[in-house]
Amino acid sequence: MNSVNGKSANIEEELEWIVERSDTAKNTLNPIRRIVDRLKVFTSEKQFISLGLGDPAAFEGFSPHPAVIEAVHQVLTDGKSNGYCPAVGSPLARTAIAQRYSYESVVLSEEDVFVTSGCSGALDLAFSALAGPGQSILLPQPGFPLYETLCHNKGINILHYPLLPEASWSIDLEQVGILAKQHKIAAWLINNPSNPCGSVYSREHLIHCKELAKKLKIPIIADEIYETLTFDGHQFVPMATLQPEVPLLTVGGLAKRFLVPGWRVGWVLCYGTALDDIKRALGDLATLILGANSLIQAAIPAILKVPEEHHQMINGHVAEIALTAYSLLSKIEGLQPLKPQGAFYMMVRLSPSIIERTRDDVEFCEMLVDREAVLCLPGTIFGAPGFVRIVCCAPLPQIIDACARIASFCSSLLN
Ligand code: PMP
Repeated sequence: MNSVNGKSANIEEELEWIVERSDTAKNTLNPIRRIVDRLKVFTSEKQFISLGLGDPAAFEGFSPHPAVIEAVHQVLTDGKSNGYCPAVGSPLARTAIAQRYSYESVVLSEEDVFVTSGCSGALDLAFSALAGPGQSILLPQPGFPLYETLCHNKGINILHYPLLPEASWSIDLEQVGILAKQHKIAAWLINNPSNPCGSVYSREHLIHCKELAKKLKIPIIADEIYETLTFDGHQFVPMATLQPEVPLLTVGGLAKRFLVPGWRVGWVLCYGTALDDIKRALGDLATLILGANSLIQAAIPAILKVPEEHHQMINGHVAEIALTAYSLLSKIEGLQPLKPQGAFYMMVRLSPSIIERTRDDVEFCEMLVDREAVLCLPGTIFGAPGFVRIVCCAPLPQIIDACARIASFCSSLLN
């Protein structure tokens, strides 16, 4: 107690608490969350349809294969996987992943695999291993917003390279060359199949990318979380299977192909020579969170054996939804959808007349959800203003209903 002007005061009690967020937290902002929170408000009494978030588990028709559930059940009841795994992943999981992602031309061993908390964790590890504050990473535009969030959080400098909508969202390699002349680049991130574009790159295009990376001496991070999720005649080509040799970190996980995003297991795969120090770095960085979920890791050998027919069945299901949506949206005045080839996504370009009446894609999405209770995400979130991203996971009747509501919304804007 202190005595001030005859009054007793407990100074500590009178001082107000100020608990300020750290600079790291100030530099950590995921734009999806901020905009989705704004889009949650709507007055329409119609039944809500979400074409917003790419979470297959939220929709019917996307159940994991029974063997996946059985595998986790088994490891849970045998009680042998309740302890910590090594931070880099359990030897069993690492070996199974190494075998699954080895190809004739390139063989992985257990030491080349790092098991992470989701593919997000794999991106975090790969970015941190290759770049630090002030160093530069090449990111696609449009692209998955987490890439930028991770870079801001780590003080990594972002260089965007354009994807070309008129060329099925292929990479503008000329611009990559120009950026590489102007800056020293620590890594080049290539996402195939793409979120948000729904594009799948041809073997030829990927070889051109690798040739350029070799010429410019830039290691590649290949985000292949959607891997074989392709349709309409498009084939997924893993970057690792292509010559020429370039140091390559492929990131992936269980979320999309195995339809269990909430289980939070992903991986970094190190292909090629010259990555010894990066592998040591990944090992050190993995200790920050003491590794990924032990139960799911124990189930990985069984999970990776899901029969190919199951994946093909899911691809057929997504294809039916995506191509129906594409055909219906193509008929709407003011919209120009770009034909999807894989993953769960399609980009739709808004015409100048629609933009004129709504101001921008963010307001278009706000008005659409408010009037028609259909949620889509504005392209601005992905660095593509003037576009809207559609998730192709909702059951067919809902997709047809959503497209009809989008048609009536666009018509009300234009007439
Ligand atoms: N990369 C891309 C391109 C994605 O779309 C996503 C998830 N939407 C991730 C990585 C992260 O995957 P995970 O859920 O396994 O963290």
